[in-house]
Amino acid sequence: MPTTVVPARPAPGSSSGSSTAADPAGGPAAGELTDLLTAVLDGHRPELRRALREAFRAEWFGPDAADEPLDLEARRARTLERLRGFAGSGLTRIGFPPEHGGTAHEGRADLSGSVIVYEMLGLGDLSLMVKAGVQWGLFGGAVQALGTERHHRAYLPGILDGSLLGCFAMTESGHGSDVQRLRTTAVYDPATEEFVVHTPEPTARKDYIGNAARDGRVAVVFAQLETRGEAHGVHALLVPLRDDDGRPVPGVTIGDCGPKGGLAGVDNGRLSFDRVRVPRTALLDRYAAVASDGTYSSPIDSANRRFFTMIGALVRGRVSVGGAATSAGKVALTIAVRHALRRRQFPGPDGTETLLLDHPAHRRKLLPALARTYALSFAQDEVAALVGTAADEAGRRRLEYLAAGLKATATAHAVRTVQTCREACGGAGYLAENRLPVLRGDVDVFTTFEGDNTVLLQLVAKGLLTDHRHHLGELDALGTARAVAGQVGGLLAERIGARSLVRRVREAVPGRTRAALLDREVQLALLADREQHVLEGLARRLSRGRGSTQGAAEVAAAAQEHMLAAARAAMDRVAAESFARAVERAEGPARGVLSRLLDLHVLATIEADLAWFLVHDRLDPAAARVLGSLVDDLCAGVRRDARALVDAFAVDDAWAAAELLTD
Ligand SMILES: Cc1cc2nc3c(=O)[nH]c(=O)nc-3n(C[C@H](O)[C@H](O)[C@H](O)COP(=O)(O)OP(=O)(O)OC[C@H]3O[C@@H](n4cnc5c(N)ncnc54)[C@H](O)[C@@H]3O)c2cc1C
Repeated sequence: MPTTVVPARPAPGSSSGSSTAADPAGGPAAGELTDLLTAVLDGHRPELRRALREAFRAEWFGPDAADEPLDLEARRARTLERLRGFAGSGLTRIGFPPEHGGTAHEGRADLSGSVIVYEMLGLGDLSLMVKAGVQWGLFGGAVQALGTERHHRAYLPGILDGSLLGCFAMTESGHGSDVQRLRTTAVYDPATEEFVVHTPEPTARKDYIGNAARDGRVAVVFAQLETRGEAHGVHALLVPLRDDDGRPVPGVTIGDCGPKGGLAGVDNGRLSFDRVRVPRTALLDRYAAVASDGTYSSPIDSANRRFFTMIGALVRGRVSVGGAATSAGKVALTIAVRHALRRRQFPGPDGTETLLLDHPAHRRKLLPALARTYALSFAQDEVAALVGTAADEAGRRRLEYLAAGLKATATAHAVRTVQTCREACGGAGYLAENRLPVLRGDVDVFTTFEGDNTVLLQLVAKGLLTDHRHHLGELDALGTARAVAGQVGGLLAERIGARSLVRRVREAVPGRTRAALLDREVQLALLADREQHVLEGLARRLSRGRGSTQGAAEVAAAAQEHMLAAARAAMDRVAAESFARAVERAEGPARGVLSRLLDLHVLATIEADLAWFLVHDRLDPAAARVLGSLVDDLCAGVRRDARALVDAFAVDDAWAAAELLTD
């Protein structure tokens, strides 16, 4: 149970007490508060984030001029040019082993630093972010994480300096989310000591592959490995795609996915292989090897566990995508909030025209989204800090489900936020010169790639259930059912703690409901209690399917919505707790401002799932009414610091690149 205690806050709607009251006309906000807020947002790697902001002043950063009529080829060429600029900056080296040209942090490859680089690339051109993510995160990351010394020596120098451009070819036309069932084959031929990589049917064609249509020279191809007549599941191999002149090598057919809903600068393509032969050493053999005579060996016995270990080794890509999406949301909010502090519509009671942000409905549109963006930023920073540090199986599993959950939550929020900001800017928001429509097109697919969000949330639920079982010890079915019903030791204590805090709202004497809802412990308990309740119900439900594989599959299928609810509830709790820890780190006036923003975040989150809290008797209708008016008041309170809160994202004017912000 979280027990974060936050110092007393100014009442919602009152002044922050800071020196900052942002200029209501949208002029520059007082710097002190902005700097203090940025310091909290910079999280565990402030120097790196500051250095990146400086490095991003380079020509290769910043969005494409979206209103400039460029054809697809010109946009792709420009993104490649920017990619070369990024490679030249040396930032691509962060995250790779120092002995192969990477930069060390605390004596080892700086994996968590690399996540921050890609997160912050999301403040600029998302085509560059995605193309770079494919090159160094997915392609380079796979060579590093799945390959061994000989692959690192042979490939990493060219990957790092950008002279060897590559692809990550996992998805097929027939199988995207269900990667274990993909159809491309890699059959070992001991006579020549080669693998034969083949596309046996049209649905086995690799699809949507970044860098494939134009620039990639080599791909990490995921295929079903077969040796000595035995299938061993999905493995990754390095397969050449193009020769030095850029022509497809014999046996490789390359197609172009053509124009997309966004990310115009990324050359997504399709790959088919007609019995392409690659040497035995092309297998990325960290988790499984094939000897020259075809003998297969792996330190991991179970094919299933081996597969998930390989996928788990690629976790940083997933964390990076979530971070970049949150950055895109920050750009959109910077544009929309600043616009709302300049534009006026309709006279108010005093006859002067009202700023958009002084319309309560407009505040409701933007400020809860702003609060959630802060929450997800803080959670992102904590998860980024975990990348590359997990010491044991439980730590790795936890990182994997947090990465999946945060990716799903952050990308869904970013897509909603960019759309909200587009609408919040009215007609101007629809013009390409104001960045938002392009940003919306670019960020849209973040909900799908690096794992479809719905599929990822199911992984989160499974991870939570596994943790839950470990928490309870290895109990038999009956024991688990009893335990999840809240009848054992520590769990019961936790549960009672959360429930008694939650009851404070129901049992508050008239007039004290607001105070109860503003109590930080109560707020966090409301979210923790919902998560626990949903998860326990899910565990009970799934335990009914035990005993037969078919029964378990049927029960699990019927419980999909329940799994999604458990995952979402868990991620809401995770984000709110990260936010509460960030409030404690905040100094000076930033603490009160963030504390109020956290109030808004938690209460708006509860309001968004009000039906659950009412149906499960955590709130009664009277408390629900108080909650609604409190959210309104908190929006009014946060509005005073809105300019400082968006300025703290440190989105340079050149990166926001919206005409409507210029005079
Ligand atoms: C622009 C772009 C770039 C990409 N880049 C790459 C790349 O470089 N390399 C690469 O390998 N791949 C890449 N991809 C592929 C991407 O990873 C896949 O599109 C993604 O994994 C989803 O797979 P799918 O498209 O086959 O969708 P599907 O798996 O067919 O999913 C379609 C829908 O069905 C739902 N669904 C599927 N399974 C379940 C389930 N079990 N329960 C409930 N709902 C379910 C999903 O939620 C989704 O709404 C890219 C895709 C795009 C669009």
